[in-house]
Amino acid sequence: MDFKGLLKEQIAKRFGLKDNIPDKLMPFIEEVDSLYGQMAKEHTGKDAQIQELNKEIEALKLQLERYTISSLGSEEGLWDWNFDTNEIYYSKNWKKIIGYEDDDITGTPDEWFAKIHLNDVDRVKKVFSVNKKNPNSTVSTTYQILHSDGEYRWVTTKGTFLDNKDGRINRIVGSHKDITLQKVAEHQLLHDALHDNLTGLANRALFFDRLTFFIERAKRVKDYKYAVVFMDLDRFKVINDSLGHLFGDQLLIQIAEILKKNMRGNDTIARLGGDEFTILLDNVEDIGDAIRFSKRIQREITTSFNIKGHDVFVTASIGIAISTPEIKRPEEILRNADISMYQAKAKGRSRHEVYRPEMHTTALNLFYLEKDLRNAIDNKEFELYFQPIISSESGKIVRLESLIRWNHPERGLVNPLSFIPLAEETGMIIDIGEWVLKQSCVESKKWQDLFNIDIGVSVNFSARQFQFQNIAKLIQKVSKDTNINLHNLEIEITETTAMKNIDYSVKVLNELKLLGLKISIDDFGIGYSSLSCINILPIDSIKIDRTFTRNIGGDTKNVIIVENLISMAHNLNLKVVAEGVETPEQLQFLMEKKCDELQGYLFSKPLSREKMYEFIEKQNNGYDLKAYYK
Ligand code: C2E
Ligand code: MG
Ligand code: MG
Repeated sequence: MDFKGLLKEQIAKRFGLKDNIPDKLMPFIEEVDSLYGQMAKEHTGKDAQIQELNKEIEALKLQLERYTISSLGSEEGLWDWNFDTNEIYYSKNWKKIIGYEDDDITGTPDEWFAKIHLNDVDRVKKVFSVNKKNPNSTVSTTYQILHSDGEYRWVTTKGTFLDNKDGRINRIVGSHKDITLQKVAEHQLLHDALHDNLTGLANRALFFDRLTFFIERAKRVKDYKYAVVFMDLDRFKVINDSLGHLFGDQLLIQIAEILKKNMRGNDTIARLGGDEFTILLDNVEDIGDAIRFSKRIQREITTSFNIKGHDVFVTASIGIAISTPEIKRPEEILRNADISMYQAKAKGRSRHEVYRPEMHTTALNLFYLEKDLRNAIDNKEFELYFQPIISSESGKIVRLESLIRWNHPERGLVNPLSFIPLAEETGMIIDIGEWVLKQSCVESKKWQDLFNIDIGVSVNFSARQFQFQNIAKLIQKVSKDTNINLHNLEIEITETTAMKNIDYSVKVLNELKLLGLKISIDDFGIGYSSLSCINILPIDSIKIDRTFTRNIGGDTKNVIIVENLISMAHNLNLKVVAEGVETPEQLQFLMEKKCDELQGYLFSKPLSREKMYEFIEKQNNGYDLKAYYK
């Protein structure tokens, strides 16, 4: 092979170009080749001069290589380290990447290594040491290097070891690239994947990761203990619903700040979602440490927050669980802390509870209840009971309120208050509610046909049904299927449900009114509605909550409230139903105050369908109500 061929082969080999030498290099190759030919001819036999010539050729080759490298990656810096002289050639770009001009850096390895971050420098030196390297082997490393502005930049440096004529490695050449932006983006991605973006706290994934680490440590280190604190704000939903999500978000951010302020070195604070925060306390002496921490947090949170000019008063319920040798997985201790938090809520909120194993059984009970509830419709375990509502004018039954019961195969008859909230929370109320509506209509049709009397039916609708279901459409369908006259149907929604979103309520209730049915506001008086709001709802009646009825004859303040509720409702052309009438005294008072309708144990407890038939038959002519208290 001639010199030119050798030269091309050499370049191709060193830069991994196969046989494709870029066109722009060809003039250089030609130049070196012709120079070599010319010199060789002129200096035939003159060894010293030939050696001189060889040097010049080497220098030209070097230039050619550097040109090649820089033409391969224009963004990258270029460097060439000669081990024999221990000098480094740094290209202009190399210097620019770390903020220096061409003359600022001369050419020693120290100028490079002195700028590498202390955490990285030993590793990088090792990568570039010639020890155990073969010619043409490549290395690559990423590290931080100090920029002239005083900040560190992330760079990736690649190099190829080259040998001299004797096959001994005497150089390494390579490139140098600033990857700071890429690193920042990677960092951000990693951060986002592990943090809650509202508060910047850890998220569930990171919390579980840290918890796993602590569980492992507890296995190895004698007497090492950690604790998990589970905190949930009380009535956050009310704040969110009434003051808006942006407001709620601001509150969560401020709560997160309080938690951060109370964090020690290795603690981890996370937001698991909504208003649930968890804190992993590292290295606690005993449960006392975690209790003190919880009390401090509770104290700091319970001062009022001022957000956008509103003062809000917040409290939190806290559950605490400390590590035990039985805990093998993060879920286990988190569940224990969660269960204790629920206990704290159940015991009246704004308090803490420490996990005890028997709490687990209560939680399991709830779990099984939920499981059983899911099958209750299919297993035909629900039954409707009916309670009469009596007209105070005629003494006759005007309507029956249908009240659901659950015949649980093991637990027996379950009261609605034990499962309706669970059904609400899990969304099962939608199916259950449809069943109740349909059955109520079927039954009402039956007693009308059977007794030929115009007794209506009153059906309770829960908040979730009212808010997430097109109940007008549902009612139309059911009335068609069951052939019931909608005149005879009344629906009851609670005051709190109706007031949640007043515009929405007005719209939906208007749709329902168009269908010809009646609307009653249940449990009236215990919510927080203002009377002016009641005025704009298209409703027919209010049902005074039985806590007021119960106290008739006792507390005078209560008596005044009942009196006022009745007269206010009458002024608004609304009928008044009193719930929970149990004694003749209550009845007398309500009659005197012209309460329109009465419901309670005094007349009848809720009865099964069969018992109800007997009852209707017996009371067909109506009560002589006055006879009750005379
Ligand atoms: P509610 O709609 O206010 O129903 C009245 C509750 O008061 C019934 O309890 C009834 O048995 C009870 N009650 C009636 N008269 C008296 C009395 O004189 N003294 C006392 N102490 N209590 C009386 P129940 O049947 O246990 O129902 C409780 C609540 O469960 C109902 O309150 C209602 O909110 C809900 N509920 C019942 N059935 C359904 C249903 O089918 N769907 C929905 N969404 N909720 C239902
Ligand atoms: Mg009711
Ligand atoms: Mg009620």
